[in-house]
Amino acid sequence: MILSVANKYEIQIGTISQANFDWLSSKNYAGWVLFADENTAELCLPRIEEFLPEDTPVIVVPEGELNKNLETCQDMWEDLFAAGVGRRWCAICLGGGVLEDMAGFVSSTYKRGIDFLQIPTTLLSMVDSSVGGKLGIDFNQVKNSIGVFNDPIAVWIDPVFLETLPLREIRSGYGEIIKHGLIADRDQWDKIKTITDLSTVDWETIIPSSVNIKREIVLEDPFEKGLRKALNFGHTIGHAIESYWLETDLRLFHGEAVAAGMIMESWLSTQLEALSSDELREITDYCLSMYGHQSIPEDSLPELLALMQQDKKNEDHRVNFTLLSAAGKARINATAEEELIVEAIRYYNG
Ligand code: NAD
Ligand code: MG
Repeated sequence: MILSVANKYEIQIGTISQANFDWLSSKNYAGWVLFADENTAELCLPRIEEFLPEDTPVIVVPEGELNKNLETCQDMWEDLFAAGVGRRWCAICLGGGVLEDMAGFVSSTYKRGIDFLQIPTTLLSMVDSSVGGKLGIDFNQVKNSIGVFNDPIAVWIDPVFLETLPLREIRSGYGEIIKHGLIADRDQWDKIKTITDLSTVDWETIIPSSVNIKREIVLEDPFEKGLRKALNFGHTIGHAIESYWLETDLRLFHGEAVAAGMIMESWLSTQLEALSSDELREITDYCLSMYGHQSIPEDSLPELLALMQQDKKNEDHRVNFTLLSAAGKARINATAEEELIVEAIRYYNG
């Protein structure tokens, strides 16, 4: 399946084969360089190595969000120079969201920008981070605070890479798939809620519809002026609880925190929008069945509210939410008073 992004580049979903690299060869780059992290170099690179010239420089960086920073970028830029990479080269970025965001940023700034191609290897990067042109790194303790908008020459999504991805990472990425259905596609949500076992999902059918939802949203709002905020459903409270437990043993993965956030923000949607109590029940039951429940202690409420107040989407000190007016329909720029947010958290706690 091929999805076109505003006639600028294509997203291919399916098996990566020699034909992909024949297409890349036809673009007559002076050379190719490959970026991977330590895990994707070991587990994903062997699946495409046969298509690469033997002397392709491979730049491997340490894995994980803690390395999504300027120091790693500096090493990457140095490695590009050392490999003799010039303006007319193409970078192949093989990895999850961390590697894709960072290698895309490094490519976009090296010698004022070289072309890059994305091969996402986590479920999150397949359905979320590789679509939409946002690239960057964490700086001054703030996530994604330095970066650029820039498009790859293509995105090749091959679900085969998920075979080595730990189940907890798959479940985390799946949170964004649930979100995409809930904000924009009732039919997709109806399909999703019948899925009970993530180890048996046919990703080739679920991924394209999810990518397409994000694609349509970012096409309408490429620079996050409005509509793109729909993608924040579940993220206002989700981000706060993700940050709250970040450096503890209770740490939640992003998608797990978003799933809890979607439950609470669905409750808010019944209070402030037209989401029905039946729909709330369905969303709650589904997210709890997939992600379990981690009780939010009452004494964490002041800090959680303070974290929500800092959210960059807020205006006039009111916490900004994306809510649902129905399953499959988002409503952006809703605001809620603190008392109501506390009630939403208590609803989640049960
Ligand atoms: P990640 O890139 O850290 O990958 C998670 C872990 O899985 C890492 O340890 C990685 O080495 C490993 N891994 C990757 N592919 C693998 C595979 N196929 N088999 C085995 N292990 C594999 O995390 P992520 O969840 O993919 O991405 C999170 C990042 O994405 C965050 O930094 C977030 O800010 C960013 N993001 C960006 C956007 C955007 O629009 N640009 C959107 C959402 C998220
Ligand atoms: Mg997210």
